[in-house]
Amino acid sequence: MHERINAIISAIRTHLGTGDRPLGLEDFYRICQIDNIIVEEISSARSFILKPSAAGGGATVIGLSRQAKGRDRCFQMFHELGHYFCDHARCSPEEEAEADLFATLATGHSIAKPGLAQKPVKIFFAN
Ligand SMILES: [Zn+2]
Repeated sequence: MHERINAIISAIRTHLGTGDRPLGLEDFYRICQIDNIIVEEISSARSFILKPSAAGGGATVIGLSRQAKGRDRCFQMFHELGHYFCDHARCSPEEEAEADLFATLATGHSIAKPGLAQKPVKIFFAN
């Protein structure tokens, strides 16, 4: 799992020319611009990603919680991008763990703390 995600992040770093520094807010918006991902601020506590259905097409949308600040916000951004780049479709615990790993490796930190159950969720259209 690590190797696959590291390969994806490495390709993103190369494309953006970031070197090995942690990826941050500006990188997130650059990636979304390049890949035509629509980013919307939402009032919900949980960020999510909506992927276009195979039949309907359309753009991928990431809903970003306004309540998430600082590192948590950045982690949620890259968690959702993890779902995007790993081609997730099932919302399984394995995919959530993979998205968390993606965010951890991309941002250089984890929001996983005891008692802090702030776990971003995503919603997918069936495809
Ligand atoms: Zn998720």
